[in-house]
Amino acid sequence: MQRITILGATGSIGVSTLDVLARHPGQYQVYALSAHSRVEELAEQCRRFRPQRAVVGSPQAAAELSRLLAGLPVEVSHGEAALCEIASSPDTDTVMAAIVGAAGLAPALAAARAGKKILLANKEALVMSGQLFMDAVREHKATLLPIDSEHNAIFQSLPGTYARDPAAAGVAKILLTASGGPFLTRAVETLEEVTPEEACKHPNWSMGRKISVDSATMMNKGLEVIEAHWLFGAPADLIEVVIHPQSVIHSMVSYTDGSVLAQLGNPDMRTPIAHALAYPERIASGVAQLDLTSMGALQFHKPDYVRFPCLKLAFDALCAGGTAPALLNAANEIAVEAFLERRIGFRDIDRVVRRVMDENAHGAAHDIAAVMDQDTQARRAAQQVVAGITRS
Ligand code: NAD
Ligand code: MG
Repeated sequence: MQRITILGATGSIGVSTLDVLARHPGQYQVYALSAHSRVEELAEQCRRFRPQRAVVGSPQAAAELSRLLAGLPVEVSHGEAALCEIASSPDTDTVMAAIVGAAGLAPALAAARAGKKILLANKEALVMSGQLFMDAVREHKATLLPIDSEHNAIFQSLPGTYARDPAAAGVAKILLTASGGPFLTRAVETLEEVTPEEACKHPNWSMGRKISVDSATMMNKGLEVIEAHWLFGAPADLIEVVIHPQSVIHSMVSYTDGSVLAQLGNPDMRTPIAHALAYPERIASGVAQLDLTSMGALQFHKPDYVRFPCLKLAFDALCAGGTAPALLNAANEIAVEAFLERRIGFRDIDRVVRRVMDENAHGAAHDIAAVMDQDTQARRAAQQVVAGITRS
């Protein structure tokens, strides 16, 4: 029996994880679930999966959840310390890190420090603190398995010996595929008018709102480049982004002998989730088998930095190093939130991120405190840029 904590259980990844777990009741047991504010949904999940613990975002939400779960033996708590507890408890083996944004960093790191098997969906955690996170994984002998579909595909396309001896693997390029999102072919001049509803309507994937907007700006791919850098120890020039609108090939590895290995599948996150849950075995995920003959043509082309400036900004942050990716990530989180609340336009997202990056120095990422300081400072700077846009 694998005992599992799901951080962000009510989100898109959390719900898909519970869907896979429900297909294998004899193999997995839910130890703890967390949600920020969707208390009713979390209560329903608790009734169904009977965790020992449930964590929410505020005392009010905790009181409400306790009321909804009266009579059930679920210990309810709230806040970051409680999230870190359920991520590091001796009563759990595996942690699904599926909180969105910087809020997921502390509990994911707590899981790493406790030597857990971590299924990492929360890419922002790795973008912010890549070196520190990977060091914690190594030092505490944690197991890190990527859930992001591209990174899961790359992991599957690399030899099992890769972590031990990356040089011997002969990797020439990591080919990170990108759908290009909903605005791949929309006239660039009209991007100023994009609404949150249009931005959240991804052609191939159904996801949370923040990652959907990131996919529309391609900041998501930029964050994934940084994520791939840390997960696979790959320098920026070894990682190439390839637009592939059909999202059938989830990423590829190109080798020095000319071979290219890829992982294919229907665009459904239950495949990487099932892969990581059962690794190195395989279990059913509920995803239909890929029907190659009904698929039509697969296309590939180069990304356009004029249409997608956020992708370039992320490459720049990776090359700058230190806390620059934390700066980028925080500015982006504030800008996306402002866009979703209709305080700024779609094209203002890249303007806010660029200005925050241009006008704020970054430093060395010595420790988590330095990363969190940069995060706080970048959020403040981004709020000011947003306020300036809103006033004008
Ligand atoms: P979502 O918005 O659907 O869900 C987010 C979850 O995080 C919810 O359970 C919410 O309660 C919780 N949460 C939000 N703010 C929080 C806070 N301040 N403190 C604690 N918990 C908080 O997001 P999602 O689409 O499931 O994405 C989750 C993560 O997985 C993101 O980092 C995203 O980039 C990554 N990811 C998602 C997909 C996908 O298909 N959805 C694919 C690849 C990677
Ligand atoms: Mg992805």
